[in-house]
Amino acid sequence: MSHTVTLISGDGTGPEITEATRRVLEATGLEFIWDVQLAGAETLEKSGTILPDAVIESIKRTGVALKGPITTPIGKGVRSANVSLRKKLDLYANVRPAKTYQGLRSRYEHIDMIIVRENTEDLYAGIEFQRGTPEQEEILETIARTTGTRLDPDSAISIKYISVMASRRIVRFAFDYARANGRRKVTAVHKANIMRYSDGLFLMIAHEVAKEYPDIQFEDRIVDNMCMQLVQKPELYDVLVLPNLYGDIISDLSAGLIGGLGVAPGANIGSQYAVFEPVHGSAPKYAGQNKVNPMAMMFSGVLMLRHLGEREAARRLEGALSSIIAEGKFVTYDLKPRSDDSTSVGTSQVADAVIERMQRF
Ligand code: NAD
Repeated sequence: MSHTVTLISGDGTGPEITEATRRVLEATGLEFIWDVQLAGAETLEKSGTILPDAVIESIKRTGVALKGPITTPIGKGVRSANVSLRKKLDLYANVRPAKTYQGLRSRYEHIDMIIVRENTEDLYAGIEFQRGTPEQEEILETIARTTGTRLDPDSAISIKYISVMASRRIVRFAFDYARANGRRKVTAVHKANIMRYSDGLFLMIAHEVAKEYPDIQFEDRIVDNMCMQLVQKPELYDVLVLPNLYGDIISDLSAGLIGGLGVAPGANIGSQYAVFEPVHGSAPKYAGQNKVNPMAMMFSGVLMLRHLGEREAARRLEGALSSIIAEGKFVTYDLKPRSDDSTSVGTSQVADAVIERMQRF
């Protein structure tokens, strides 16, 4: 059986790591029909849009996309293609595994967490009021009238918005993910002691949903305590579920715990579509140099294989990647003890090594 997948190379170093990843996925022996779509700097220049409608239409047809990073031009009024993609396809769950592999430069061992971040609301919903605008004045008036608190007129405001619907679906997603992947515990992260209504709602819903999954342990942690716990004993945690802002911060913290961006995969998943991509950006300064690490995108490919139900191929690809990392020979500069190590290999050589190593798994 073949899988039809939308393939978006992105820009900067995106095309190199995407090509390397496409090669290793094909080497699993599975058949892929790639629906290749362009997005990013090239389409912006040619057609004035960073995310052509054809990309969205393709993902709506295939249901699954593998995506390289896309540069967000600064100061040109162009909205991030990544944010647009998540919004247009309602990819409400951002899933980021954080796992230590032997051979990675990390202070820790035995970390194996899945960070599930709510992707659509919270402080990131984009509802903001600029200082000195009539809208901001109106909001300040409303706040004064409804709460009795008069805020400094010389201030800006961002709204933290948490709903029952989004909280319920993200917590359910975390529990379903835990169940489907043989995981034992879900930890909900919040600051409900201070933000009693917004985070309080998230926490209340999390407790409600947890009752539907008696086979999975449930606990909650206040976000500041969670940060300390993750630095001190990350091996105690399994699946974390968080509102948008805490999820953003904790998922980067977790990428740091396991040894950096070069190996951190991600997925954005909704009820109908899923987009798999590395956590890192397009690293444009290295574009065209066959230099950056393709493993974060390859590990994203592992997530995609599991999503497609191809567990055996996922196991083999992950096995080959972890073996190459442990050996430390066919790895890019970022995985060497010193970044100027002359024995580091390039992007495409990593793909060659992974393809060869997969034969052992
Ligand atoms: P970046 O992740 O591209 O690069 C930061 C640094 O991390 C790089 O200089 C490099 O040293 C290192 N790095 C990143 N990926 C690496 C890899 N695969 N191998 C080895 N080292 C790697 O972050 P940035 O510089 O902040 O962003 C560059 C552009 O990417 C921006 O336009 C940003 O908006 C965009 N971006 C896109 C996505 C996405 O497409 N999902 C995500 C993040 C950033």
